[in-house]
Amino acid sequence: MGKGTPSKSGGKKTHIICRRCGRHAFNVRKGYCAACGYGRSKRLRSYNWKK
Ligand SMILES: [Zn+2]
Repeated sequence: MGKGTPSKSGGKKTHIICRRCGRHAFNVRKGYCAACGYGRSKRLRSYNWKK
């Protein structure tokens, strides 16, 4: 809370609770969940390296 790093506590939340995966990863500004990809694609977010 000092100089150098201004704490933007304006109340603008970027992530909310995702209604599909339940995680606090749904990006409001982008409109999709960063965890499961809800709102981004119809299918679940999956990667080859993630098992
Ligand atoms: Zn999600």
